[in-house]
Order: sequence, then structure tokens, then C-alpha cells
Amino acid sequence: MKVGFVGLGIMGKPMSRNLLKAGHELVVYDVVKTAVDEIVAAGAARGESAADVAARSEITITMLPDGPEVEAAVTGPGGVLGGAIAGSIVVDMSSISPLVAQKVAAACAAKGVEFVDAPVSGGEPKAIDGSLAIMVGGKQEVFDKVLPLLQCMGSSATLTGPAGAGNVTKLANQIMVAVNIAGMSEALVLATKAGIDPEVVFNAVKGGLAGSTVLNAKAPMVIGRNFKPGFRIRLHQKDLRNALSAAEAMKVSLPFTSLAQQVLIALMNKGCGDLDHSAIATFIEDMAGVEVKRP
Ligand code: NAD
Repeated sequence: MKVGFVGLGIMGKPMSRNLLKAGHELVVYDVVKTAVDEIVAAGAARGESAADVAARSEITITMLPDGPEVEAAVTGPGGVLGGAIAGSIVVDMSSISPLVAQKVAAACAAKGVEFVDAPVSGGEPKAIDGSLAIMVGGKQEVFDKVLPLLQCMGSSATLTGPAGAGNVTKLANQIMVAVNIAGMSEALVLATKAGIDPEVVFNAVKGGLAGSTVLNAKAPMVIGRNFKPGFRIRLHQKDLRNALSAAEAMKVSLPFTSLAQQVLIALMNKGCGDLDHSAIATFIEDMAGVEVKRP
């Protein structure tokens, strides 16, 4: 298949490499030239702009930081819709507001171009080994057409509803992860202040109802004082901002998400934006005057 890829960052680079490995003909573009050079060296063709990429592709994938970048790269000057052929498909795999995804879907429809939103979970390691979890919003027949491509990048791809539904699902995922880390942080701070080894607490509870993938992944990072990302605080803050603005538009109150968002903003102001989101624990530690670590 002739595939276009726009946005060659932490995630886009390994995802595009997996498409090349699967034998697809790839044309790529990023505003950062060195990122394009790297993927061209791996076998892709160079695109001069997002419009140029789309003009040469049956399916164009975008993997960009947030909604404003997706709008610029798809509907802006020199964007995908400036070149896309009617009947082609845009697959936006960025994590953005579902409202922006719907807006971009409508702009695509006006040009006879199909659109699905398909954000991912799993981070860089799963992008590299092609085992991302992909949450898709769009029409069934378009999903069926893009599924073989998604399977080159992920181990699961689920159609969750119409355009925007993929990003609603991704935001639901991000809410559960953030609030889970916040609860875990308070629990470990309390136990440590009480003089109990936090690792003993972790091992005692992980097989019970409080056990979770989040606990297993993040408690050892906090106890080991390792906040290397993983998933950056500033990206999680962006996701919760999108969750809260979507919720506000739907008149849904999300008090715990709101609180987690305030904590992430405070951590960004402390210069922790590029730490792993497990560093939420440091905010709770500061208020208690204790550090979660083994005695
Ligand atoms: P990144 O910042 O590393 O990469 C984004 C790329 O987009 C950059 O190379 C940038 O130069 C490029 N770009 C920006 N505007 C552009 C434009 N107008 N035209 C062309 N290129 C443009 O980000 P990332 O970590 O790869 O994340 C991408 C998306 O995936 C984000 O929405 C993020 O939330 C989501 N995500 C990231 C992770 C992770 O662990 N990194 C995990 C799951 C989902």
C-alpha cells in the first residue's frame, strides 16, 4: 500500500519503521528535517510537505503532539487536505481532544476524504516492537481498510465508535492512569511516614483488589527513585486538559481528574514536566515531608 506518514517523533519514527518492515511504500514528512533524513535512510521517500505526502498516498497517517498541530498539518496551508486525493484516508494516531478529531473529520469529509482517529497506548517500547493498543473512531468500512496497516504497528486495534470515539477512549485510559498513580502515591507516602517499608506494603497489596498494571509499573519506580520517562508529565497534563475540556462541553463533572490536572501543572512549574508521571508521588511527598523509599 502507498502510505504517507507525518510526524516522526518518539512514536512516529518506530511506527513508520514497522510499516517499512511490513513492505509498505512509505513517504514521510516532519517539520524537523533530521527526523525525515533518518526515516529516508531506512527506506522511505522524502515528502516536501504534508500536502505532498498526502498527494502520493492512499492512506496518510499523522502522529503529532496535540490538536493544534493536527489541525495545522491536516487543514492548514500546505496540510494534508491540500494534496489528498478524494477517496483517500487520513488516520490520525495522535492523542488529541475528541472535539478536534470531529472537526478534522468534518473538514476531511468536505473534501471527500475519509478520516479515522486512532490514538495509541503503550509508549515508545511498544511502538518499537509493534505491540501498541490502538483505539479507533470512525466508520466500520474505513476501519476495515486501515486495519492491516494498524496491525503492523499494534497488537490490538479496536473500533470504539464514530469519529472522536478513539480519543474519548484514550482520554478514559489517561484519567484512570492519572488518578490511579495519585492514589498509589498517597498510599505509599502514608505507609512510609508510618515507618513501614513501602516495598513491603507494595508486595502485600499487589495481589489484592488494589493491585493493578499501574501499581506494578509505577510503585517500583517511586520506591527506586527512578523518574526517567516513560510517559512525560507534560504529555499527561495535555491529555487531562483535553479530557476536562471535552467533559466541560458535555457538562460532565470530573473532580478527581481536575485535581490530578492541578498537581501536574504544579509539577511542570517545578521543572518536572519531562519526568515520568510516577513523579506525581513527589508532590504528595513534599506535603508530608517524607520520601517514599526503603528504610
Ligand atoms: P514528539 O513530540 O516526540 O513527536 C511529534 C513530532 O511531530 C515531532 O517530530 C514534531 O517535529 C512533529 N510535528 C509537529 N508539528 C508538525 C507539523 N505541523 N507538521 C509536521 N510535523 C510536525 O511526540 P510523541 O511522543 O511521538 O507523541 C505523539 C503523540 O502520541 C502525542 O499525541 C502523544 O500524547 C501520543 N502518545 C505518546 C506516547 C509516548 O509515550 N511518547 C504514548 C502514547 C501516545
